[in-house]
Amino acid sequence: MAKYIVVGAGPGGLASALLLQHQGHEVHVYEKDRVVGGRSKVLKHGAYTFSAGPSFLMYIEMLDLLFDRVQLPWRKDLNPFRLDPLYELKLPQFSWKPSGQPNVLAQQVEDLFQEGKAYTRFMAREAKAFDAVQQVMLKPFPSKRHFLNTRVLNFGRFVSLKDSVSDKLNARFHHPMLKHSMTFQAKYLGMSPQETPDFFTVLTYLEHQRGLYHVKGGIENIIRYMARQFKERGGHLHLNSPVQHIIVSHKQAEGVKTVHGVERADGVIVNADFPELINRLLPEKVQHSYTKESLKALDFSVSAFMVYLGPDTQFDTVEHHTMVFSDDYESYTKGLIENQALPQDPTIYLYNPTKHDATYAPKGHSSWMLLAPVPNTLAEIPWEQKKEAYADKLIKRLARKLNLPNLSKHIVTKVIATPNDWQHDYRVHLGSVFSLKHQFHQLLHKRPHNHYNDVDQLYLVGGSTHPGSGLSTIVQSAIIAADLIAKKSAK
Ligand SMILES: Cc1cc2nc3c(=O)[nH]c(=O)nc-3n(C[C@H](O)[C@H](O)[C@H](O)COP(=O)(O)OP(=O)(O)OC[C@H]3O[C@@H](n4cnc5c(N)ncnc54)[C@H](O)[C@@H]3O)c2cc1C
Repeated sequence: MAKYIVVGAGPGGLASALLLQHQGHEVHVYEKDRVVGGRSKVLKHGAYTFSAGPSFLMYIEMLDLLFDRVQLPWRKDLNPFRLDPLYELKLPQFSWKPSGQPNVLAQQVEDLFQEGKAYTRFMAREAKAFDAVQQVMLKPFPSKRHFLNTRVLNFGRFVSLKDSVSDKLNARFHHPMLKHSMTFQAKYLGMSPQETPDFFTVLTYLEHQRGLYHVKGGIENIIRYMARQFKERGGHLHLNSPVQHIIVSHKQAEGVKTVHGVERADGVIVNADFPELINRLLPEKVQHSYTKESLKALDFSVSAFMVYLGPDTQFDTVEHHTMVFSDDYESYTKGLIENQALPQDPTIYLYNPTKHDATYAPKGHSSWMLLAPVPNTLAEIPWEQKKEAYADKLIKRLARKLNLPNLSKHIVTKVIATPNDWQHDYRVHLGSVFSLKHQFHQLLHKRPHNHYNDVDQLYLVGGSTHPGSGLSTIVQSAIIAADLIAKKSAK
């Protein structure tokens, strides 16, 4: 049995902790915050509970893989259920609610857009593309040489190096509102569909064909479940314990220094945002592959402007997920690429878990989370001056588009989080909540590796590492890192 330290109790850190514990190791998790979850934590304001960030729960087969490995009956314990409809899309020309049942959804596409046949063909091909993508994503990518295998060549059949998600949809569909409905998922990567590599249409496939889910208490409850199980099995979870730096000797990670002292270990797994490793945690003298200077050349996603709202009522017409599109969606998404100006006509996402889940708010009240993608902190927007007016603008727009003229009278609680808060409170570099952009020059072997190149026994997990952002993908990073550790231990 060896001893491992995990830096950060976000989804990536806790998934790694469970896996390493199951391998028989002694595991200590150090978390700077007083609660677990990181960007997936619970926020409590008065009688209201909010999800800090994540809300779309998809591709839960990856959670099955994680929990099967550590022998936890998560489906029985947390009871995930499939949403139907998936969401309401308030498009510039009309609204619709894509069904959570694939055959009904295909019929909706035919009835609304007369493109049912093209849609069915598209989804059949995406199913194959998704299988090929998975074969690649679940493997480490330590070097270019790893392209030279049949898995990657198969993946290559479904990928264009030059086309974007928008290009791909433009080539296959006609109706602009259908294209908007199938490209907005680039938002989950904090990117514009015009810049997102075309194979990310697998996100649309995942939603449409494999469904969106909810568990009581939301994604943050899955993370708390991980923490609870880890502790019950003898794991050590140290909250309020920021790691100050990683101890490296002879190019090997040998422990950490926290505010409470030095803790030695046989290896360290970093779940903190990757730039945190370079900017704060790793001694400069062992930095080669990345340095503070070279971080400046990387491309980071947009950030998110959040308004957490507690209305003292429930609006029956508001779905679990609602997307209110910009009136000029093309210009808006192009603006996201520039990542400079505050969008005046933003697309707003509204999460209303209280539609299906009474744990978030007092009886008859609601817990709402509004999210608008906005430039990261490189844009130097003076948020303290602007945030109240921007929040009001979003709320008014939402009230108009959802036809809720009395909305503002019902708001009991309002809390705002800006890119500066993501940067300072969550230690997310530039407030780029979706981490490094998912473009070819920052994917696979070009994304921070799960075993860190420059230091032995130092492993990286989480959204800023291979394979990328999003809960299921982050879980994959933990599985890859745990497999690398198991392989090494077996030698
Ligand atoms: C607004 C928003 C919406 C999102 N929506 C979705 C969604 O709908 N679906 C989805 O699947 N994903 C979504 N994501 C993406 C992703 O799933 C989450 O961001 C996820 O929480 C990232 O997990 P992580 O493990 O990479 O890092 P984090 O959750 O950031 O966890 C890292 C942890 O490390 C800790 N830490 C940092 N530095 C130190 C240190 N020095 N010492 C000790 N601890 C430290 C932090 O406090 C934090 O707890 C969303 C993200 C955001 C922000």
